[in-house]
Amino acid sequence: MSDSSQIAVYRNRCEIHCCRPHSLAAAAVTFFMAFYSTCSAAETTVVIECCSLFDSESGTMLPEQTIVIRGSQIVHIAGKDAVPDIPADATRIDGRGKFALPGLIDAHVHVVHVLDFAHVTGDEVLPLYLAAGVTSIRSAGDEVVAATLVARFAAAHPEFCPRVFTCSPLLDADPPIHRDIGRAVTDPIKVPELFDDLERWDITTVKIYAGTSRPVGRAIIEESHRRGLFVTAHLGKYSAQDAVADGVDGLEHIWSVFNYVIPPELTTQPGHRGKLDFNTPLCESLVAELAQRKTFVDPTLAVFRNMILLPDVAEVHDHPDNTLVPKRLREFWPVYLQRAGCPHGGPLEDRRREFAKFQELTGKLYRAGVPLLVGTDSPEPQVPPGFSLHQELEMLVESGLPPAAALTAATLTNATVLREHGSLGSISVGKVADILLLTANPLDDISNTRSIELVMHNGLICHPDELLKRVPSE
Ligand SMILES: [Zn+2]
Repeated sequence: MSDSSQIAVYRNRCEIHCCRPHSLAAAAVTFFMAFYSTCSAAETTVVIECCSLFDSESGTMLPEQTIVIRGSQIVHIAGKDAVPDIPADATRIDGRGKFALPGLIDAHVHVVHVLDFAHVTGDEVLPLYLAAGVTSIRSAGDEVVAATLVARFAAAHPEFCPRVFTCSPLLDADPPIHRDIGRAVTDPIKVPELFDDLERWDITTVKIYAGTSRPVGRAIIEESHRRGLFVTAHLGKYSAQDAVADGVDGLEHIWSVFNYVIPPELTTQPGHRGKLDFNTPLCESLVAELAQRKTFVDPTLAVFRNMILLPDVAEVHDHPDNTLVPKRLREFWPVYLQRAGCPHGGPLEDRRREFAKFQELTGKLYRAGVPLLVGTDSPEPQVPPGFSLHQELEMLVESGLPPAAALTAATLTNATVLREHGSLGSISVGKVADILLLTANPLDDISNTRSIELVMHNGLICHPDELLKRVPSE
């Protein structure tokens, strides 16, 4: 990357982070300068000629576009009547009949949790993400020192790893539900002190977990905002109505909405979760509040179908995507399922109905204008890194999102919550060159996101078959 393009990206990032106080902004700048100095593509020019281009800003497929990439940056995009001069030494890729998509982003993963129990290190599964076209991932809660190491490894190896954005540990009651990645926070007065410690790790996201009470949750939200951090929550004790009123930025899992729209009188009826009516004042008022405040909801349908509710059905258990993960992880999944008491929820038909209700509520949120994220909770059992994002997209479309809306959510909206919409999330001049080239149109059938011919990450061309060879089979 040339000095000028590096400065352009650096400026973008400074603008994005300008809301943070000086010390945190300085830390962020130091990190990103280090990131870009370690993973810049060589100063070569690559041209993808005459492809269809998915514009995540408008949600449309633009025909016959030529994309020019220099180093790690997109420097020119033109229609067929304005094709630029192409340097003689440029690498030319014939895009005719192909579809360029911005690199996908998974908004909910763990790069330590579950893997540590299975004796798999985060770096071992990172190539799976890139092979699936997932060029950036957002940790949604991990042991922060180990996660930072994984993120540094990824930044040093952009040719086979996605960009990793880290998160706080799960901020929870005492003792935390997940002792490996949780941190007990019980006194609101001590929250600023906790953030002083977290600040050194350059996290992107703060995560409130299920045992957190409202006074602590409110203090975490206020402190996150004071420091310019995105705060999201997997709710339990703290209700969705309270967390949204207190200004939480995001909710993880459709559960964090669903569990708070159940009328109390129904909770004693067997199978009530599969019979819920969402056209009630209780549900309508929460959905309206989420829409009005633009609170992001990350449904993570893959983890509910594959781990929580339906891990015992063949279409989940024997899904071909599962064969791609190391055997250590695959063989650990049933052990973890048993420990977690999965599947939850009684007879199979009740569980199927409950999952259908999760999808119905997801569709309702979309239609109401609630901004949706696309996350998977990989590598929870039967939620394979990278490839489960395609499953998530398929389930979102089944829930009522048009394919274009699902793709915009998985690219531009996910980039927005990372505060990276100035550099990621769309194929635009000045942005980082994270691009997938598909052989079939994902707007015709969302499962065509799997038809990946090549992945460009940070301007580097990667081939899925080669990336998969880097993942240990054992
Ligand atoms: Zn999670």
